[in-house]
Amino acid sequence: MENLAKTYNPKEFEDRLYNDWNNKGYFKADVNENKEPFTIMMPPPNVTGNLHMGHALNSTIQDILTRWKRMDGYEALWLPGTDHASISTESKVVTRIKEQGHSKEDLGREGFLEKAWEWTEEYGGNIKNQLRKLGVSCDWSKERFTLDEGLSDAVEEVFIRLYEKGLIYRGDRIINWCPSCATAISDAEVEHQESQGKLWHVKYPVKGEDKFIEIATTRPETMLGDVAVAVNPNDERYEDLVGKTLILPLVGREIPIIKDEYVEMEFGTGAVKITPAHDPNDFEIGLRHNLENLKILDDNAKINSNGGKYEGLERYEARKQIVSDLEDKDYLVKIKDHDHNVGHCERCDTIVEPIISKQWFVEMKPLAEPAIEALKNGKFKFIPERFEKIYLNWLENIRDWCISRQLWWGHRLPVYYCKDCGEVIVSKKRPEKCTKCNSENLIQDEDTLDTWFSSALWPFSTLGWPQNTKELEYFYPTDVLVTGYDIIFFWIVRMVFSGVEQMGEVPFENVFITGLVRDSEGRKMSKSLGNGIDPLEIIDEYGADALRFSLITGNTPGNDMRFYVERVESSRNFANKLWNASRFVIMNLGEEFHFTGIDNENLKVEDKWIISRLNSAIKEIDDNLNKFELGLAAQKIYDFTWNEYCDWYIEMVKPRLYGEDEADKITVKNVLIHVLGDINKLLHPFMPFVTEEIYSYINESNESIMVSNWPENDDKYNFVEAEEQIDFIMDAIKSIRNIRAEMNVIPSKKAKAIFVTQNYNKRKILENNELFFTTLASASSVEIKENKDGISDDAMSAVVEGAEIFLPLEELVDFDKEIERLEKEKSRLENEIKRVNGKLSNKGFVEKAPESIVNQEREKKQKYEGMLDKVVERLNNIIDKKD
Ligand SMILES: [Zn+2]
Ligand SMILES: [Zn+2]
Repeated sequence: MENLAKTYNPKEFEDRLYNDWNNKGYFKADVNENKEPFTIMMPPPNVTGNLHMGHALNSTIQDILTRWKRMDGYEALWLPGTDHASISTESKVVTRIKEQGHSKEDLGREGFLEKAWEWTEEYGGNIKNQLRKLGVSCDWSKERFTLDEGLSDAVEEVFIRLYEKGLIYRGDRIINWCPSCATAISDAEVEHQESQGKLWHVKYPVKGEDKFIEIATTRPETMLGDVAVAVNPNDERYEDLVGKTLILPLVGREIPIIKDEYVEMEFGTGAVKITPAHDPNDFEIGLRHNLENLKILDDNAKINSNGGKYEGLERYEARKQIVSDLEDKDYLVKIKDHDHNVGHCERCDTIVEPIISKQWFVEMKPLAEPAIEALKNGKFKFIPERFEKIYLNWLENIRDWCISRQLWWGHRLPVYYCKDCGEVIVSKKRPEKCTKCNSENLIQDEDTLDTWFSSALWPFSTLGWPQNTKELEYFYPTDVLVTGYDIIFFWIVRMVFSGVEQMGEVPFENVFITGLVRDSEGRKMSKSLGNGIDPLEIIDEYGADALRFSLITGNTPGNDMRFYVERVESSRNFANKLWNASRFVIMNLGEEFHFTGIDNENLKVEDKWIISRLNSAIKEIDDNLNKFELGLAAQKIYDFTWNEYCDWYIEMVKPRLYGEDEADKITVKNVLIHVLGDINKLLHPFMPFVTEEIYSYINESNESIMVSNWPENDDKYNFVEAEEQIDFIMDAIKSIRNIRAEMNVIPSKKAKAIFVTQNYNKRKILENNELFFTTLASASSVEIKENKDGISDDAMSAVVEGAEIFLPLEELVDFDKEIERLEKEKSRLENEIKRVNGKLSNKGFVEKAPESIVNQEREKKQKYEGMLDKVVERLNNIIDKKD
């Protein structure tokens, strides 16, 4: 057999193997009625994104599951794709055209979109090549993009269906407005940050009386939009004021005092200003009391014409000015510090402004309920389970979803307005005439849809929906979704209710939640900290297999992990160990060897042991994988390979490989190659490249390991007795090695091993396996006795189950050398004691030094004296022996 390259160098084969797999179509999955489908939809990364450690972890997990299932006989589809990421792509394109001296507006919609597509083609797709480096076995022939034709059709279809069902409406609602992005954003796109703010207490005078009501506010500038002050109906403090009128300070407008249950009496002064256009709760109160929505900010968060003399001021300048004016005119009672949560735009970190706006919404209640039920009825589950709470909590408290965005990059709303009669027409194609008045004077809504509107449909739109394709029928619902906990409500929630609503079935059975990959100190990797580690650099230095393996070992679902380069190194060392072991095996097979299978009749105890251990490893790894315990599975394959196969089995059978018994040699070679083959298969999902490379040398057909059969647990390979015997032998060998290590005995110094046992079985095992002790425990010979007669008292000993082991001292130790060593040690210790004594007899030291330091010296003295006693005793002992 031809052998592997001398050294493990992933650069020599990783790219080659990936192209090979891809060219041979191994990643492809097609409708196959003879196989069960297994489906994963790749969470589409942003088209202009770059691969980071989070993607690397997430993709490795998906690839492990896909490769495992594919080998295990499933038609495994891992469908890749990218997301147009409306808001983040648009802001990048806007920045770029600004650098070229243009604005969005002067390019116009068409011109801007052209630039955006150019950008997408230029920068998009990087991430796909980066994923390939990692070894992802996804079906590139089925790759989708959220803006491609089919997916856009699905988006319009869903919009129209929901609209016709009355679940999409247009209306004035309070939305989160990002003044910097100049668009509405959804609740999920707002990040709440605890911040130190102030509470301004302001007097609102009662009209015609010498009284006032004190109001507390965190945003004094919004008082320009106040239309009422509300108190709780049960609040006796304000009983006689309800129904009267207040004069709004600085503005002079008259506003009513109203009663509303919503107001908490205990909070603040028990009276709240009502600004329906700039606060969601006030908006609701406004609806109940028929109040005017007085909007005082424009799209850039500057005061508009409703703000009188403050018009044109930016919101925080206006706040300063208003507070100063309130103070001048004696309306300001006090300013208190007040910590509160402030919403920030998730994309640009600008403080969002709740603003009333005419937007499109999805009515969530009717969609949320079935999605809650689906989880409660076990239609799908979270791994780990604790994330259910976040999902349920979000859905149970959901507000209507604002889906329109004042952006151009994305799916434009399929909505047309008649300029003559105001009719609203929802349609995929531009209608020729108004359905109401036949006018041709129609314009399409300028807005685009929230980017998550299209990703919500990802599990079925990618399979051809709304067409009823064969793929959709076969691959949907999918098996596993692998994603981070940060997008449970952005994405998971929306996929579930969209799947239930449009397909009548949840989109996946399992949601595997991944944690964050943090740096070695536990910090989030971020651009600003500069602590990000580029997965591509790691791959370049250590190979993709090492990166994948280090991301998986020790990883548990849902928990953050720390990334240590040392761990990548040790994963690379593991690949290297496997490489070298494989080279050794291949080298010893010889030219003529052909694998002829395992014949239980000819197996020796160590053969049965390794086959039996492999058999249990297969079962345990299967169990782990089925429970998504990928980290545990990886650890098991590592331990089995390194410890049992490389360190024990190969060492145990070397004498047989080098021996004269040709028939036995064939048995050993068959076992070596059988176990090595299965090791590579079990490891393949984790380390696809090195295992394929090795497999291509040890496998006599040309079959790729990717499409080979996953190892199966088989009862006929359970050899309990052999396992017990080898366990006993390994324990004994380890005990002997320990003694020798303690005594600093070099391996070439052989020593007799004496076993004392009355146990017949143990005696038999020892008699049959003497060779292991001479080859693996530096035994010169093995003696088995029933009692300790004749064993000298100073023999070193250890106990294993059912036997005692003795190693005669004189066989372990070269007396002259040992005397020399002990003499040296003796004089070293005597010097130490002298030094400590010197210190302790120095009065100055004992009296002036802190007590703890003095005590330390006393302890040292004791320790050295104890050591010296032992050395002297041993020295005398050996001198006695020598004579
Ligand atoms: Zn923003
Ligand atoms: Zn019309």
